[in-house]
This record gives sequence, C-alpha cells and structure tokens, in this order.
Amino acid sequence: MQDAALRALLRDLQRAQFDREAKASDLEILLDFLEIIAVAAGDKPAHLQGQGMRSRSFMHAVRNVAASHGLLVMETGPLLPRFLRAPDYDPRFLEWERQRDREERAREGRVLWVYRDRDLEPAIRNATEGETDVSALLGYPECCVREHFEAGIRLAEATVRGYQTRYGAKDAADFIRLAKANAPVTISPADRPVIRHDVFPYVQFAPCRECAASGASPAAAINWAMKRLAARLSPAFQRAIDKAIKAEVGARQLTERARSST
Ligand SMILES: [Zn+2]
Repeated sequence: MQDAALRALLRDLQRAQFDREAKASDLEILLDFLEIIAVAAGDKPAHLQGQGMRSRSFMHAVRNVAASHGLLVMETGPLLPRFLRAPDYDPRFLEWERQRDREERAREGRVLWVYRDRDLEPAIRNATEGETDVSALLGYPECCVREHFEAGIRLAEATVRGYQTRYGAKDAADFIRLAKANAPVTISPADRPVIRHDVFPYVQFAPCRECAASGASPAAAINWAMKRLAARLSPAFQRAIDKAIKAEVGARQLTERARSST
C-alpha cells in the first residue's frame, strides 16, 4: 500500500467508535493500530488482535476498518501456549494442563487475525493450536518468542517442584488435584518470567534477554522500524504513542513504588 492509502487506514482506525471494555491501555490500542498499518505496508505478515486484554467491540471496529481497506481478516480460537520441549514432569499432567488451557481459551472467546496474504491461513490455524511457531507470522524475532514460551515451561516446572516439595505430591493425579485446588507454591525469582517492559516500547512482544541488551538486536530493529513508520505516516500519531508510553511508564513506576513500600 502507498503512504496515502496507509494514512487513510490510520485515519479510519483512529475514527472508529468502540467500547473499551477490558482494553484499558491507550498505548496498546495505538500499537494495535500501528501493527495493522505495518501489515498493510507489507512490513509484517499478520497482526493478532484480542489475545490478552480484550474488547469485543474494539475487535469488531478493527475488523470492519481493516476489511474495508482490503486487508484479510479471520477469527480463530485464542493462541494456545507452545511447548518447544517437553517439561520435565509427568506427561499426563501436561496433557491435563493442555486440556485446561483449551477450555479456558474457549471461554475467553475468539481472536482476530489481520493479514494480506491468503496463503498464510493454514499457518495461522497451526500457530493458534500451538503447533507451530507464531514468530514468523507476526514478524517477531524467533529468539524473543522462544524465550517467552520457554519461560512458561520453566514456570510450570517450578510449580510442579513446589507441589512435590511442599505437598509431597508424587504423580500426575496429585498434581492435578493440587492444580484444581489452586494450591499455592513459592516460585523463586530465577524461575519467574522476566518482562522487560520499557526497553522497546514500540513493539508488542517481550524482548528476550539478549535482544534487550543490545540496540542492534532483531527486537531493537523492529522497534525502530515501527517508530519510523509511525513518524513517516503521521508525526501527530507518533507523538500520541510517545505520550502514551510516558504515561504507561509513569503508572508502572507508581505501582512498583507502592508495591515495594508495603
Ligand atoms: Zn530476541
């Protein structure tokens, strides 16, 4: 798409009326717009809408605008977590967890994919089931996406270790019983996922440790490309994103300060 067409898409996204529901973050909304523009510009294969903080009404608005500008849209079930390796516990418990995830996701409702190329559809369906890596589809660095899912496996393993040490759990039946009861376990900081929020504020994925440490990393390159795209299309849009970033960082610092003072 030419810049004039991208600007028209941005204008219609910004004019769309919707009810925010659970979607409380201004920054997230602006970055959703930016990602959709990046798809239209051919800089990113697909955009995923509605995973995590969601608003049905926002999704409908985005869907209508994207489709009216010639983009393809598809709804699927939410993305299931991907297991890049088997966790080091009883596979029967893993199977139970997968089933629980599927049921939880089914209750959460649908997510929306926005893309340009119809040939992506089989890959979108596979990624939704956690069968293939979503990084290529979303144009996110593979290292960052891998680290995100690896952190999920480490957390699951630490939880099972907690069941064993704290409650003397022995087998899958014990793990399932404790998981159903939401039995609390202590997770050491080393096993907790680290979210590096503020390093690359123009992207919606969490950068991996290596990417976060370098201004020349794949995640950094995407961050700058997204920022340049916003500035090229509309300096006012880019300033709105910067303002939302400042507000979000400020709010996060306040919460962290409140947490550390209690
Ligand atoms: Zn990375």
